[in-house]
Amino acid sequence: MVEPFEQPIFVTRPLLPDLQIVTAKLQEIWAAQWLSNGGMQHQKLECALRDRLRVPNLTLFNNGTTALMAAVQTLGLAGEVITTPFTFVATTHALALNGLTPVFCDIDPSTMNIDPDQIESLITPKTSAIMPVHVYGMPCDVEQINEIARKHGLKVIYDAAHAFDSEVGGAGIGAYGDITMYSFHATKTFHTVEGGALAFGDAALKPRLERLKNFGIRDEERVDAVGFNGKLNELQAAVGLAVLDCLDGELTKRRALVDVYRAAFDGVPGLTLPPLSEHSRTTPSYFVIRIEKELFGSTRDDVYRHLQGYNVFARKYFYPLCSDFAPYRHLPSAAPQRLPVASRIARQVLALPLYGALSAREVERICELVLATPLRFSRGTERSLPAVFVSL
Ligand SMILES: *Cc1c(COP(=O)(O)O)cnc(C)c1O
Repeated sequence: MVEPFEQPIFVTRPLLPDLQIVTAKLQEIWAAQWLSNGGMQHQKLECALRDRLRVPNLTLFNNGTTALMAAVQTLGLAGEVITTPFTFVATTHALALNGLTPVFCDIDPSTMNIDPDQIESLITPKTSAIMPVHVYGMPCDVEQINEIARKHGLKVIYDAAHAFDSEVGGAGIGAYGDITMYSFHATKTFHTVEGGALAFGDAALKPRLERLKNFGIRDEERVDAVGFNGKLNELQAAVGLAVLDCLDGELTKRRALVDVYRAAFDGVPGLTLPPLSEHSRTTPSYFVIRIEKELFGSTRDDVYRHLQGYNVFARKYFYPLCSDFAPYRHLPSAAPQRLPVASRIARQVLALPLYGALSAREVERICELVLATPLRFSRGTERSLPAVFVSL
């Protein structure tokens, strides 16, 4: 019998570096008397991240959403942008806030990323760009998307908020597309409390982006763009440097926990596990299963509620779809019948707890709880745990 957890288990927990290391960096900031506007910590973090992400150019922002907005503005996009409904709503908002019309494209049933085979049918004379998302850190089909963009003269901005450690063909994920956005929010794998960055191939974008995030200011007497305040401050940058030092350890722990989940759920009828890929590397940002009620015998919501009864707070990521939210559902491309795959998958997904401070035993208990969700539909047999777990 599985007991409820004594403390609530959330889907993630922020990676907190040793406080003494952060304090030492705060002392440096106090000594420098420089709190924002590209100080020492900011410069160090920008260089460290450019190396870590293996991208040619990088610029930091105070969050991922302002970074995405700056990307849209600097590329001068207009009209329509083809994007995915299966994402966090900031992706869609970054377009709408800049007067662009999001055009929702259905997703691939395996990767849950934008389905590249359906992009071309959505291109119109008004289309200026594609904004795909590397959902749950799983890389998109960057080659096919690149080919479509080249053929039709479109820009590509990737939302890599989940994909800090992702790779395709041995290259960092930020090496693809015109611009790639990273989010460093506290709940992301790498974070700066709040923060973000853009990576890009064209070095000429760097001064333009730097002006945009600093009110469009060129120098003391000139403002040449309608900019905003998108600057990452010194305290955030210092936390980021400390977090970066413990990131690899966190990733290793998370990948081991992913293996525990996979072993427990492998072959369970009605559960679909995240796809494995030989050509790319996924960031272990989330562990998301899909629950098919007829085969599993319970719905996603049954499992979600069952876990809550045991103090485990899974999340329905991404449900509802962005195309179902009030500001977007009137759009022609938002009609659920035009997004059959995304609409079905949004009802099946459940993100389970994944962070390095969880123990393997705790993950096993969570797996037991998932499998012990009361049956609502007859499935012939009870669910059973894999033999390796029963002894624990
Ligand atoms: C977190 C997230 C964002 C927004 O990033 P912030 O840093 O919170 O502004 C955008 N897109 C996706 C897919 C995200 O998960």
